[in-house]
Amino acid sequence: MKRFDLTGKVAVVTGGNGGIGLGMARGLAEAGASIVVAGRNAQKSEKAVKELGGLGAKVAAIAVNVTDEKSCQALVKGTMERFGRLDILVNNAGMNIRKAPETFTLAEWREVIDTNLTSAFLCSHAAYLEMKRAGGGKIINIGSMTSIFGVPFALPYASAKGGIVQFSRVLATAWAKDNIQVNAVLPGWIDTDLTRTARQQVQGLHERVVARTPAGRWGDPGDFSGIAAFLASSASDFITGTAIPVDGGYSVQG
Ligand code: NDP
Repeated sequence: MKRFDLTGKVAVVTGGNGGIGLGMARGLAEAGASIVVAGRNAQKSEKAVKELGGLGAKVAAIAVNVTDEKSCQALVKGTMERFGRLDILVNNAGMNIRKAPETFTLAEWREVIDTNLTSAFLCSHAAYLEMKRAGGGKIINIGSMTSIFGVPFALPYASAKGGIVQFSRVLATAWAKDNIQVNAVLPGWIDTDLTRTARQQVQGLHERVVARTPAGRWGDPGDFSGIAAFLASSASDFITGTAIPVDGGYSVQG
């Protein structure tokens, strides 16, 4: 099991203060990594730091706005000052605005694209040299079922999440020479703050998800602990450029 051990590794998880990001951070911490919880909401981050610290991990919170280039650079700089290295980057921060395509303003389009896609570019860009210098690294990008499927109420979100898959493939091919593996994880419907509002806004969504998901339930942030630890570990060194659904079978249901 040594190949799954993350002792001595340092992971930055954007949006690691709640939902899927915190689920992934738990898995990384349990496998031995030190964690930087990178979000905007200081109260949520403080709570996550306490929880992850309780698992025995070294943890720090660094405030970041993932849509801002300087803020992403400061996140990497702060990580280096605090922990001296950066091995794992989870580009998880995201948000959605749900409405008909023809009603989106340019500002709304940009906000969703910037938060879900440009953010991954900015953080990966900022992390690259540190990973290269360390002799390798792992980047895990969070896509969605909308990376694969069309949904009528999520034009910029699905465009960004589709983009995340290609973004991961391109970086995987470009940075393989630096021993950096880049993969995407595509969550199904997961019970978090993000989807709680969707369930209120989209009538019948809860039941439709349960009916279509072979596992017969919504996902839980804890469902992401294992995939995070695996994709961050040397056990996955020959896996790069993939997009792995973590969806209880949602994407293969006919
Ligand atoms: P949450 O709303 O619980 O988490 C989103 C996280 O992103 C928060 O921790 C938030 O931190 C952070 N965040 C948002 N905007 C910014 C920003 N500008 N700068 C820094 N941090 C930011 O939702 P989920 O856990 O569900 O979402 C996590 C990821 O999973 C997202 O990329 C989402 O698109 C994706 N996903 C989720 C699915 C689901 O069913 N839940 C399905 C498919 C994909 P803070 O509160 O501090 O701002």
